[in-house]
Amino acid sequence: MSDELRALRDRIDGINEELLQLLNERLQLVEEVKGVKQRSSSVLFSPEREAEMFEKLLLANQGPLTADLVRHIFKEIFKLSLDHMEATGRRSLRVHRGPNAPDASYEIGLHRLGGVAPQLIAGPCSVESEEQVHQIAATLKDLGVGFLRGGAYKPRTSPYSFQGLGEEGLRLLREAADAHGLAVVTEILDPRHFEAHQRYSDVFQVGTRNMYNYELLRLLGQSDKPVFLKRGFMATLEEFLLAAEYIAKEGNERIILCERGIRTHERWTRNTLDLSAVPLLKQETALPVVVDISHGTGRKDIMVPMARAAIAAGADAIMCEAHPNPPLALSDNAQQMDLGELRAFVSEVFGSS
Ligand code: PEP
Ligand code: MN
Repeated sequence: MSDELRALRDRIDGINEELLQLLNERLQLVEEVKGVKQRSSSVLFSPEREAEMFEKLLLANQGPLTADLVRHIFKEIFKLSLDHMEATGRRSLRVHRGPNAPDASYEIGLHRLGGVAPQLIAGPCSVESEEQVHQIAATLKDLGVGFLRGGAYKPRTSPYSFQGLGEEGLRLLREAADAHGLAVVTEILDPRHFEAHQRYSDVFQVGTRNMYNYELLRLLGQSDKPVFLKRGFMATLEEFLLAAEYIAKEGNERIILCERGIRTHERWTRNTLDLSAVPLLKQETALPVVVDISHGTGRKDIMVPMARAAIAAGADAIMCEAHPNPPLALSDNAQQMDLGELRAFVSEVFGSS
């Protein structure tokens, strides 16, 4: 290599190092800006500020970089700062997994969720009668399943569809669960039902439609019962985690995250079950992650492979719907397994029957 070339390359190396140092300095300043903004609760991204910075840069540019190139390069630098702010913001969340934190593990009634072998949470879409819940509860007990699900207050798309038995449904769930040593997971729709849920259930379920109901989340954050938070069907994982943070911020850190499918253009399934959410949520948090394969797919014919895939991805539990007579079910009758199908499912996925 000629001396001239070596000298030029040395200068380029020097400039690279200076640029690197400047970029790191810039990132440190961005951190400080973030601190100031958080103290005054202002938003992190300001389009006006970005436009102002572009304007100054283009005025200062003497070439040979073109205006387009300046814009392109600095757009990347600005984006890097925002990504960095978002990532460090996530690390300061209460629901973020601390360094070397073990997986959370909750004792719920006579059972345990998280930090143990994958569990099953099963039961009807809606509680319909005493006989119905008792039949399911007895089957669950027989199969070694510890968690009974079922809706007493139902969030239905049409106001003319069955809306659930209300408090009577909660009572029926509790009785059936107690008779068979099960824990109850049931959805709370409205803060006005808090006392009833507190009395009858073991776990507060927040449905997909209520993931953004921040007042409800805050209220459940003040309870001592675990909260089973379903991902909103249009929610990003960032939004999902921040919804969990609403609960944790109030003091209740016993949160269970549930992936239940998101809305996409796909029509062969009711929702698109986003299994990548499982390892990502487990990387970000120490909270148990559950996969609802019934609402996540809406199809009984792929329950076994989807449950196996969810467990392979790291799920702490599977949720599924089962009913003694699905064709007569008052809600979600196409996706509920009958009790024979549930037995076969448990045997294939969990290896017992
Ligand atoms: C349910 O689990 O009963 C339910 C209504 O599910 P989602 O909120 O996920 O639709
Ligand atoms: Mn349902």
